Amino acid sequence: FRSIYQSFTDRVAERPDATLFELPDGRTISYAQTAQTVHQIAARLRADGVAPGDRVAMQVGKSPEAIALYLAVLAIGGVFLPLNTAYTGAEMDHFLTDAQPRVLVCAPERLAEYAPRADDALVVETLGTDGDGTLLSSSEHNSEVYPATAEEPAAILYTSGTTGRSKGAVLTHGNLASNCAVLVAFWEFTADDRLIHALPIFHVHGLFVAMNMTLTTGASAFFLPKFDLDAVLGLLPRATVLMGVPTFYTRLLGDERLTRESTASMRLFVSGSAPLLASDQEAFAERTGHAILERYGMTETGMNSSNPYSGGPRKSGTVGKALPGTEIRIVDGQTGERLPDGEVGSIEVRGPNVFAGYWRLPEKTAAEFRPDGYFITGDVGRFDEDGYLCIVGRDKDLVISGGFNVYPKEIEERIDAHPMVLESAVIGVPHPDFGETVVAVVVPAPNTRPDADDILAFVAPDLARFKQPRAVRIVDALPRNVMGKVQKAELRKTYGDLFT
Ligand code: ATP
Ligand code: MG
Repeated sequence: FRSIYQSFTDRVAERPDATLFELPDGRTISYAQTAQTVHQIAARLRADGVAPGDRVAMQVGKSPEAIALYLAVLAIGGVFLPLNTAYTGAEMDHFLTDAQPRVLVCAPERLAEYAPRADDALVVETLGTDGDGTLLSSSEHNSEVYPATAEEPAAILYTSGTTGRSKGAVLTHGNLASNCAVLVAFWEFTADDRLIHALPIFHVHGLFVAMNMTLTTGASAFFLPKFDLDAVLGLLPRATVLMGVPTFYTRLLGDERLTRESTASMRLFVSGSAPLLASDQEAFAERTGHAILERYGMTETGMNSSNPYSGGPRKSGTVGKALPGTEIRIVDGQTGERLPDGEVGSIEVRGPNVFAGYWRLPEKTAAEFRPDGYFITGDVGRFDEDGYLCIVGRDKDLVISGGFNVYPKEIEERIDAHPMVLESAVIGVPHPDFGETVVAVVVPAPNTRPDADDILAFVAPDLARFKQPRAVRIVDALPRNVMGKVQKAELRKTYGDLFT
């Protein structure tokens, strides 16, 4: 077993001068320089009293030093706890009380906000996006490595909070290392890769998928503070891989600089964290000749499934097959019985990628696992005729109208097929007769003005009466979080009293 940190140090030893980060201003930072920063931060954290198993929380903007902080926490056996930079007072209260970190590393401009929390149990450090702040202010170095086992916790990552309050998922060194190794092999990722990194680093996608793969292979990352259309388009000709959320691809497609020529050096475009629009998938292939590879994962499990890199078609509307070592099954959510292929049911996964449990929520943890070790993802899906997994939605988004199950995705797909529709979100809202009924929220295609009745008439022939939306609302954009996830809970709030 080689932990993420050990694999990183292997790469440092092999090619110390190789570039790890290239920043927007053209500055590059090598593997050896990063290792130095890691040792400096490790010394500081040890001086702050961080012992193996202690949490180190980080709420800072993206920078190479923030990644060095992540590595330093792993090196000393701490538990890394990255937090969304958007979280404010009350939310941070919750996370700090819940996770009880030994150290909180915050942005220098937020020190005044957090300094009053410092006490015997909590040290507050600062780290700016230029590497400024207290974290790197002393010159001590410490390259001692804590020999973490595969079973020990490496990180607590809070889920995105799409369906309720964020839960802290405890991930072990083994979880991170195994999932990373599987992805590296499956996507044929190597030291020659140059990854465009435009994702946040407080989430599984940007931190574990994108960064772990880079750090453990000796590859390099164009490290952008966030998705910037001009910057990404400018880097495409020099890059080989882009890992993105669906909105990246929608935005790239909106720019005529996205062409076959500008993507000629690219070998892989990955999409995940939310469903990729089938229309974007097709338009992207037509425009660039590249089929976007869609995969499926979550905070609790890392990546579970992927469309093939080689040896098979990438099928739009699917998230591919289980990654090597991971098992995926579709069961009846109520009985737990496995369902025949093709039937829609609850998605459950098992494998070395699956987390150790929710932080300090033993009951919640127990409720989400089957006795045979399968984790109940909360997603609903089916296997298609080729054994590819299709995600139909989340069980919490399921609409039950007059006693019938309605899967929003089926209706969304019909609506999206309308020529004047860019995308849609279907939700259930309370209804006096049916319990719940279906409402469609629709975003028009560019320069069109679709009519609600026309959309209803368009989908009606294909849908049973109970699945047909009772109301269609046309909006400019769907509410999304930073990972591009549609916030259906917010829509349910907005349209909750349409029928009551
Ligand atoms: P919470 O669990 O707090 O409600 P969340 O589930 O959105 O939030 P994450 O762990 O960030 O938090 O997201 C994982 C979820 O994202 C998956 O369970 C799935 O619903 C969705 N997802 C990930 N990849 C895809 C994909 N390719 N297609 C559709 N949905 C996806
Ligand atoms: Mg979730």
